[in-house]
Amino acid sequence: MKCTRCGGHAEVKLRQHNASFCRDCFVPFLHKQVERSIEKQKMMTREEAILVGVSGGKDSLALWDILIALGFETTGLHLSLGIGEYSDHSTEKTVAFAESRGLSLITVSLRDEGLAVEDAVVFTNRPACSACGTLKRYYFDRLAHDRGFPVVATGHNLDDEAARLLGNVLHWQMEYLSRQHPVLQPTHEKFVRKVKPLYRTTEFESAAYCFFRKIDYVIEECPNSIGVTQLVHKEVLNQLEAASPGSKLSFVQEFLKKAQPQLRARDTEPPRTCESCGMPSFANLCSRCRLVREVESKRARRAASGT
Ligand code: SF4
Ligand code: ZN
Repeated sequence: MKCTRCGGHAEVKLRQHNASFCRDCFVPFLHKQVERSIEKQKMMTREEAILVGVSGGKDSLALWDILIALGFETTGLHLSLGIGEYSDHSTEKTVAFAESRGLSLITVSLRDEGLAVEDAVVFTNRPACSACGTLKRYYFDRLAHDRGFPVVATGHNLDDEAARLLGNVLHWQMEYLSRQHPVLQPTHEKFVRKVKPLYRTTEFESAAYCFFRKIDYVIEECPNSIGVTQLVHKEVLNQLEAASPGSKLSFVQEFLKKAQPQLRARDTEPPRTCESCGMPSFANLCSRCRLVREVESKRARRAASGT
Protein backbone atom coordinates (compact mmCIF):
# COMPACT_ATOMS: atom_id res chain seq x y z
CA MET A 1 0.00 0.00 0.00
CA LYS A 2 1.53 3.30 -1.14
CA CYS A 3 1.00 6.76 0.30
CA THR A 4 -1.26 8.78 -2.01
CA ARG A 5 0.83 11.89 -1.37
CA CYS A 6 4.50 10.85 -1.33
CA GLY A 7 4.47 7.28 -2.70
CA GLY A 8 6.15 5.97 0.48
CA HIS A 9 4.90 3.09 2.64
CA ALA A 10 1.31 3.89 3.71
CA GLU A 11 0.16 2.98 7.23
CA VAL A 12 -3.47 4.14 7.07
CA LYS A 13 -6.09 3.56 4.43
CA LEU A 14 -9.04 5.96 4.35
CA ARG A 15 -11.63 4.30 2.15
CA GLN A 16 -14.07 7.21 2.46
CA HIS A 17 -11.43 9.46 0.83
CA ASN A 18 -10.11 6.73 -1.48
CA ALA A 19 -6.62 7.52 -0.16
CA SER A 20 -3.78 5.99 1.88
CA PHE A 21 -1.13 7.80 3.88
CA CYS A 22 2.20 7.30 5.59
CA ARG A 23 2.35 8.85 9.07
CA ASP A 24 4.27 11.91 7.87
CA CYS A 25 1.57 12.71 5.32
CA PHE A 26 -1.44 11.65 7.41
CA VAL A 27 -0.85 14.22 10.17
CA PRO A 28 -0.83 17.28 7.85
CA PHE A 29 -3.71 15.74 5.86
CA LEU A 30 -5.86 15.63 9.02
CA HIS A 31 -4.80 19.15 10.00
CA LYS A 32 -5.95 20.38 6.58
CA GLN A 33 -9.24 18.45 6.80
CA VAL A 34 -10.06 19.98 10.19
CA GLU A 35 -8.99 23.45 9.06
CA ARG A 36 -11.34 23.10 6.08
CA SER A 37 -14.23 22.08 8.35
CA ILE A 38 -13.59 25.10 10.58
CA GLU A 39 -13.47 27.49 7.62
CA LYS A 40 -16.37 25.93 5.69
CA GLN A 41 -18.69 26.19 8.69
CA LYS A 42 -17.22 29.54 9.89
CA MET A 43 -16.71 28.03 13.34
CA MET A 44 -14.15 30.41 14.83
CA THR A 45 -11.15 32.60 14.11
CA ARG A 46 -7.59 32.69 15.34
CA GLU A 47 -8.35 35.99 17.11
CA GLU A 48 -10.87 34.31 19.44
CA ALA A 49 -10.07 32.55 22.73
CA ILE A 50 -11.28 28.96 22.39
CA LEU A 51 -12.31 26.81 25.34
CA VAL A 52 -11.73 23.16 24.36
CA GLY A 53 -13.73 20.50 26.21
CA VAL A 54 -11.20 17.78 27.00
CA SER A 55 -12.34 14.44 28.42
CA GLY A 56 -8.98 12.63 28.24
CA GLY A 57 -10.22 10.44 25.36
CA LYS A 58 -8.68 10.24 21.90
CA ASP A 59 -11.04 12.64 20.13
CA SER A 60 -10.79 15.58 22.51
CA LEU A 61 -7.00 15.26 22.95
CA ALA A 62 -6.54 14.96 19.17
CA LEU A 63 -8.75 18.03 18.72
CA TRP A 64 -6.74 20.07 21.21
CA ASP A 65 -3.47 19.03 19.55
CA ILE A 66 -4.80 19.88 16.07
CA LEU A 67 -6.15 23.29 17.13
CA ILE A 68 -2.77 24.19 18.61
CA ALA A 69 -1.00 23.04 15.42
CA LEU A 70 -3.41 25.21 13.39
CA GLY A 71 -2.49 28.26 15.49
CA PHE A 72 -5.68 28.69 17.56
CA GLU A 73 -5.55 30.23 21.02
CA THR A 74 -6.85 27.48 23.29
CA THR A 75 -7.52 26.69 26.93
CA GLY A 76 -8.61 23.18 27.95
CA LEU A 77 -11.62 22.54 30.16
CA HIS A 78 -11.76 19.15 31.86
CA LEU A 79 -14.79 18.12 33.90
CA SER A 80 -14.05 15.38 36.37
CA LEU A 81 -17.44 13.67 36.19
CA GLY A 82 -17.30 11.58 39.34
CA ILE A 83 -17.60 8.16 37.68
CA GLY A 84 -15.20 6.14 39.85
CA GLU A 85 -11.81 5.09 38.50
CA TYR A 86 -12.81 5.94 34.94
CA SER A 87 -12.98 9.63 35.88
CA ASP A 88 -9.71 9.45 37.85
CA HIS A 89 -7.88 7.97 34.84
CA SER A 90 -9.45 10.49 32.44
CA THR A 91 -8.30 13.37 34.63
CA GLU A 92 -4.78 11.92 34.92
CA LYS A 93 -4.44 11.62 31.12
CA THR A 94 -5.75 15.12 30.51
CA VAL A 95 -3.50 16.75 33.12
CA ALA A 96 -0.47 14.81 31.83
CA PHE A 97 -1.18 15.93 28.23
CA ALA A 98 -1.53 19.59 29.26
CA GLU A 99 1.58 19.52 31.47
CA SER A 100 3.73 17.80 28.84
CA ARG A 101 2.93 20.61 26.40
CA GLY A 102 2.73 23.51 28.84
CA LEU A 103 -0.94 24.15 28.03
CA SER A 104 -3.48 26.07 30.04
CA LEU A 105 -6.08 23.74 31.58
CA ILE A 106 -9.10 24.39 33.79
CA THR A 107 -10.17 21.32 35.78
CA VAL A 108 -13.54 21.24 37.53
CA SER A 109 -14.71 18.41 39.74
CA LEU A 110 -18.48 17.89 39.58
CA ARG A 111 -18.33 16.31 43.03
CA ASP A 112 -16.82 19.53 44.41
CA GLU A 113 -19.54 21.46 42.57
CA GLY A 114 -22.10 19.47 44.57
CA LEU A 115 -23.32 16.82 42.13
CA ALA A 116 -21.25 14.02 40.58
CA VAL A 117 -22.72 11.79 37.86
CA GLU A 118 -22.67 8.84 40.29
CA ASP A 119 -24.95 10.75 42.71
CA ALA A 120 -27.47 11.32 39.94
CA VAL A 121 -27.40 7.59 39.13
CA VAL A 122 -27.82 6.54 42.76
CA PHE A 123 -30.55 9.01 43.71
CA THR A 124 -32.65 9.31 40.53
CA ASN A 125 -34.05 6.99 37.88
CA ARG A 126 -32.46 8.96 35.08
CA PRO A 127 -30.12 7.14 32.70
CA ALA A 128 -26.49 7.99 33.58
CA CYS A 129 -25.79 9.49 30.14
CA SER A 130 -28.80 11.78 30.33
CA ALA A 131 -27.70 13.20 33.72
CA CYS A 132 -24.09 13.35 32.53
CA GLY A 133 -25.07 15.21 29.33
CA THR A 134 -27.10 17.73 31.34
CA LEU A 135 -24.19 18.43 33.68
CA LYS A 136 -21.58 18.64 30.89
CA ARG A 137 -23.64 21.06 28.79
CA TYR A 138 -24.36 23.20 31.85
CA TYR A 139 -20.74 23.52 33.01
CA PHE A 140 -19.37 24.08 29.49
CA ASP A 141 -21.85 26.93 29.04
CA ARG A 142 -21.39 28.43 32.49
CA LEU A 143 -17.61 28.29 32.63
CA ALA A 144 -17.22 29.63 29.09
CA HIS A 145 -19.55 32.53 29.87
CA ASP A 146 -18.09 33.28 33.33
CA ARG A 147 -14.50 33.22 32.07
CA GLY A 148 -15.15 35.20 28.91
CA PHE A 149 -14.63 32.58 26.18
CA PRO A 150 -16.79 33.26 23.10
CA VAL A 151 -16.43 29.69 21.76
CA VAL A 152 -16.50 26.15 23.16
CA ALA A 153 -15.02 23.42 20.92
CA THR A 154 -15.77 19.75 21.58
CA GLY A 155 -14.33 16.54 20.14
CA HIS A 156 -17.55 15.04 18.69
CA ASN A 157 -16.47 13.09 15.63
CA LEU A 158 -18.15 11.83 12.46
CA ASP A 159 -19.15 8.53 14.09
CA ASP A 160 -20.83 10.42 16.95
CA GLU A 161 -22.64 12.77 14.61
CA ALA A 162 -23.79 10.01 12.23
CA ALA A 163 -25.05 7.86 15.14
CA ARG A 164 -26.85 10.83 16.67
CA LEU A 165 -28.41 11.66 13.31
CA LEU A 166 -29.58 8.08 12.85
CA GLY A 167 -31.12 8.05 16.34
CA ASN A 168 -32.87 11.37 15.71
CA VAL A 169 -34.17 10.25 12.31
CA LEU A 170 -35.40 6.89 13.59
CA HIS A 171 -37.66 8.74 16.03
CA TRP A 172 -38.13 11.89 13.87
CA GLN A 173 -36.97 14.09 16.72
CA MET A 174 -37.57 17.36 14.88
CA GLU A 175 -36.45 19.55 17.77
CA TYR A 176 -33.15 17.69 18.08
CA LEU A 177 -32.67 17.58 14.30
CA SER A 178 -33.12 21.35 14.13
CA ARG A 179 -30.24 21.73 16.58
CA GLN A 180 -27.94 19.09 15.06
CA HIS A 181 -25.23 21.18 13.43
CA PRO A 182 -21.44 21.53 13.87
CA VAL A 183 -21.95 25.19 14.83
CA LEU A 184 -24.55 26.27 17.37
CA GLN A 185 -24.94 30.02 17.66
CA PRO A 186 -25.94 31.41 21.08
CA THR A 187 -29.65 32.04 21.62
CA HIS A 188 -29.22 33.68 25.04
CA GLU A 189 -26.75 36.25 26.37
CA LYS A 190 -25.21 33.60 28.64
CA PHE A 191 -24.75 31.03 25.89
CA VAL A 192 -21.60 30.98 23.77
CA ARG A 193 -20.98 29.52 20.29
CA LYS A 194 -20.44 25.76 20.33
CA VAL A 195 -18.46 24.09 17.57
CA LYS A 196 -17.46 20.56 16.56
CA PRO A 197 -14.35 20.80 14.36
CA LEU A 198 -14.04 16.98 14.08
CA TYR A 199 -17.54 16.45 12.65
CA ARG A 200 -16.02 15.05 9.42
CA THR A 201 -13.23 13.10 11.20
CA THR A 202 -13.80 9.42 12.00
CA GLU A 203 -12.96 7.67 15.27
CA PHE A 204 -10.40 5.68 13.33
CA GLU A 205 -8.70 8.87 12.12
CA SER A 206 -8.49 10.42 15.58
CA ALA A 207 -7.12 7.13 17.02
CA ALA A 208 -4.49 6.97 14.23
CA TYR A 209 -3.65 10.63 14.82
CA CYS A 210 -3.10 10.04 18.56
CA PHE A 211 -0.93 7.01 17.77
CA PHE A 212 1.27 8.90 15.32
CA ARG A 213 1.49 11.97 17.56
CA LYS A 214 2.21 9.79 20.64
CA ILE A 215 -0.79 11.17 22.52
CA ASP A 216 -1.57 9.01 25.55
CA TYR A 217 -5.34 8.90 26.03
CA VAL A 218 -7.72 6.98 28.28
CA ILE A 219 -8.54 3.72 26.49
CA GLU A 220 -11.07 2.24 28.90
CA GLU A 221 -14.70 2.99 28.12
CA CYS A 222 -16.99 4.69 30.60
CA PRO A 223 -18.78 1.93 32.58
CA ASN A 224 -22.09 3.70 31.89
CA SER A 225 -21.65 3.29 28.13
CA ILE A 226 -22.48 -0.43 28.27
CA GLY A 227 -25.72 -1.07 26.43
CA VAL A 228 -26.40 2.51 25.30
CA THR A 229 -28.40 2.68 22.09
CA GLN A 230 -25.92 4.99 20.41
CA LEU A 231 -23.41 2.12 20.31
CA VAL A 232 -25.95 -0.01 18.43
CA HIS A 233 -26.41 2.82 15.93
CA LYS A 234 -22.63 3.09 15.54
CA GLU A 235 -22.41 -0.63 14.87
CA VAL A 236 -25.11 -0.47 12.20
CA LEU A 237 -23.36 2.48 10.57
CA ASN A 238 -20.03 0.63 10.65
CA GLN A 239 -21.64 -2.23 8.73
CA LEU A 240 -23.00 0.22 6.17
CA GLU A 241 -19.61 1.89 5.90
CA ALA A 242 -17.87 -1.44 5.31
CA ALA A 243 -20.30 -2.27 2.49
CA SER A 244 -20.32 1.24 1.05
CA PRO A 245 -17.34 3.42 2.06
CA GLY A 246 -18.21 7.07 2.56
CA SER A 247 -21.78 6.35 3.77
CA LYS A 248 -21.30 8.03 7.17
CA LEU A 249 -19.73 11.14 5.69
CA SER A 250 -22.40 11.52 3.04
CA PHE A 251 -25.22 10.82 5.55
CA VAL A 252 -24.06 13.71 7.75
CA GLN A 253 -22.95 16.08 4.98
CA GLU A 254 -26.11 15.66 2.88
CA PHE A 255 -28.27 16.15 5.97
CA LEU A 256 -26.44 19.40 6.72
CA LYS A 257 -26.76 20.55 3.12
CA LYS A 258 -30.30 19.49 2.24
CA ALA A 259 -32.44 19.12 5.36
CA GLN A 260 -30.84 21.01 8.21
CA PRO A 261 -31.27 24.57 6.81
CA GLN A 262 -35.06 24.06 6.60
CA LEU A 263 -35.26 22.56 10.07
CA ARG A 264 -33.12 25.32 11.50
CA ALA A 265 -35.47 27.96 10.17
CA ARG A 266 -38.31 26.61 12.34
CA ASP A 267 -39.44 29.01 15.02
CA THR A 268 -38.14 27.81 18.33
CA GLU A 269 -38.90 29.32 21.68
CA PRO A 270 -35.92 31.34 23.01
CA PRO A 271 -34.69 30.26 26.45
CA ARG A 272 -35.67 32.14 29.58
CA THR A 273 -33.51 32.45 32.70
CA CYS A 274 -33.22 29.87 35.49
CA GLU A 275 -34.68 31.23 38.74
CA SER A 276 -32.03 29.49 40.79
CA CYS A 277 -28.71 29.92 38.96
CA GLY A 278 -29.43 32.58 36.33
CA MET A 279 -28.36 30.41 33.39
CA PRO A 280 -30.56 29.94 30.29
CA SER A 281 -33.52 27.63 30.80
CA PHE A 282 -36.71 26.51 29.06
CA ALA A 283 -38.57 26.21 32.38
CA ASN A 284 -38.49 28.07 35.70
CA LEU A 285 -35.47 25.99 36.68
CA CYS A 286 -32.75 24.84 34.24
CA SER A 287 -32.26 21.09 33.83
CA ARG A 288 -29.12 21.08 36.01
CA CYS A 289 -30.88 22.85 38.90
CA ARG A 290 -33.87 20.48 38.58
CA LEU A 291 -31.46 17.54 38.75
CA VAL A 292 -29.69 19.00 41.80
CA ARG A 293 -33.02 19.53 43.58
CA GLU A 294 -34.22 16.02 42.77
CA VAL A 295 -31.02 14.50 44.17
CA GLU A 296 -31.11 16.72 47.27
CA SER A 297 -34.71 15.84 48.10
CA LYS A 298 -34.21 12.09 47.54
CA ARG A 299 -31.01 12.17 49.56
CA ALA A 300 -32.81 13.92 52.43
CA ARG A 301 -35.71 11.42 52.27
CA ARG A 302 -33.34 8.45 52.36
CA ALA A 303 -31.40 9.95 55.26
CA ALA A 304 -34.64 10.55 57.17
CA SER A 305 -35.83 6.98 56.60
CA GLY A 306 -32.38 5.58 57.40
CA THR A 307 -32.09 3.58 54.12
FE1 SF4 B 1 -21.18 10.42 30.52
FE2 SF4 B 1 -22.57 8.41 29.42
FE3 SF4 B 1 -20.35 9.32 28.24
FE4 SF4 B 1 -20.20 7.95 30.52
S1 SF4 B 1 -20.93 7.16 28.54
S2 SF4 B 1 -19.08 9.83 30.02
S3 SF4 B 1 -22.05 8.64 31.58
S4 SF4 B 1 -22.26 10.46 28.55
ZN1 ZN C 1 -30.19 26.66 36.98
